[in-house]
Amino acid sequence: MKKNPSIPAYESAMGREGLRLTPQRRQVYEVLMNKRDHPTATEVFLRAQKRMPSISLATVYNCLETMVVNGLVKAVHVDREPTRYCANLQEHGHFHCTECGHISDIEFSDSREQGWTLPSGFLVTQHDVSLRGLCAECATNVKTSSLKHSKNAHQHTKQLQNLKK
Ligand SMILES: [Zn+2]
Ligand SMILES: [Zn+2]
Repeated sequence: MKKNPSIPAYESAMGREGLRLTPQRRQVYEVLMNKRDHPTATEVFLRAQKRMPSISLATVYNCLETMVVNGLVKAVHVDREPTRYCANLQEHGHFHCTECGHISDIEFSDSREQGWTLPSGFLVTQHDVSLRGLCAECATNVKTSSLKHSKNAHQHTKQLQNLKK
């Protein structure tokens, strides 16, 4: 297996924030690094538990929260689904495929201001962008007619959600 080069970066980031790299935090972070599919806290817990049976869901929540607060992990929010977590420390956005639900990391261009119409004098210090649409696979699979259908279906669910509010 390939050795993960990001763990030392994480250790130094932890050090910078004055955080101890506890075995639990390391485990949670490794879970996030091993599979970059933006898991929920419960998914992180289930994966971490395989290698550390003693770890609890509450501990996983605490670890994730500490790491989010200290900027070591990103919390990703998709609609009203449970929060997902991302260990990609590079500045990036998220692309949410509405067909298969997969969340992909997307990179920004060099300039943070590029592509936006900002009021004069505004300076962007952080990007937190999420796009939605179809991933390459789903875009190929979905035919024009069924695309229309799923769009209507999606709108319908949205209306239902609004009614429930
Ligand atoms: Zn991400
Ligand atoms: Zn997809």
